[in-house]
Amino acid sequence: MSADRAAPRPVEVTLHRVRLPLVRAHRAAHGSEALREVVLVEVALDDGQVGWGECSTLARPTYSAEYTSTAWAVLREVLAPAVLAGEAPRVVGHRMAVAALASALADAVLRDVGRPLAQELAAHHGTSPRAAVPAGAVIGRGTVDEVLEEVAAELGAGAALVKLKVSPDPPDLAAAEAVRSTWPDVALAVDWNGTADPTGLRRLDGLGLAYVEQPAPADELVTSAAMAASIGAPVALDESVASRGELDAAVALGAARIVNVKPARCGGPAPAAELVAHARNAGLEVFVGGMVETGVGRAAALAVAALPGCTLPTDLGPSRRYLSPDLTQDLVADGHGRMVTPTGPGIGVVPDPERLAAATVDRWSATRPAP
Ligand code: MG
Repeated sequence: MSADRAAPRPVEVTLHRVRLPLVRAHRAAHGSEALREVVLVEVALDDGQVGWGECSTLARPTYSAEYTSTAWAVLREVLAPAVLAGEAPRVVGHRMAVAALASALADAVLRDVGRPLAQELAAHHGTSPRAAVPAGAVIGRGTVDEVLEEVAAELGAGAALVKLKVSPDPPDLAAAEAVRSTWPDVALAVDWNGTADPTGLRRLDGLGLAYVEQPAPADELVTSAAMAASIGAPVALDESVASRGELDAAVALGAARIVNVKPARCGGPAPAAELVAHARNAGLEVFVGGMVETGVGRAAALAVAALPGCTLPTDLGPSRRYLSPDLTQDLVADGHGRMVTPTGPGIGVVPDPERLAAATVDRWSATRPAP
């Protein structure tokens, strides 16, 4: 991230480990979370400016190898000391921890120059951010009645697409069929989170899906390509793609026609914006997904979703869907179900101090070593 003048130096990094009850449990094929435990990174610059970033790991290593306890350790032992020493952090993997620190630094530097992150990212790619982003609704696993009820509510709120979390379990397949028969024309997608079997894959392919997300496990691109060839709907990859190299491999194998770019998973907003551009150049459709973030992480992700290269509805939703109240001022949809791009400097939101204090279960801070 660049600014028009020399960037002030970070002098303090504070980690806030927070635990927040979700409005409803997040239920996917990889597990269920009723509490969201993430690390917020606060960076203070030598001019007094402060920036915020979120490490959106899950509490257990079920979605990715990285999880909240490993992120806490890497941020504390490696990333924060490197940044405070004025060195570029060098780690293999741990992209969510890297993303949190990168996001906090970008937020602080952009606040200094009064520039919104969405504008900075778009300008870097020769374009302008969209003021509002068409958004879909991601519906967790549940009984047929629960799923139908939730879909009805989200369509009523203007969702541009409905994505169902599914597994090979019969109730998940039945719920998808019930949604399609109730709403024959709605844009419908499914996310297998790596658990699809050939029978379920073919059965749901009959529903005329907008896309089928992550049918095969993250590292099984050849399987993903075979699955993509066996169905009519396009395959979207999420867990499989966090870098240009992984995207190139997926494209070369024919494993995906769509990519879900999650800034938290791709090393932060700037690398995510690069990946969006790279995917578009490779002929893929793109959307920005989320990690059930607090407002800090979701605002940063929305800045990426506002890029015109994100051609499909984002998964990012309004605060009311996840946390009530949010840790920050609420992120909201306009009257047409589109997410409003934050327009304030940096990520455009800050944590509410009282809510942050109430949610904090651990805190760690370090300052720049004396020269
Ligand atoms: Mg997904």
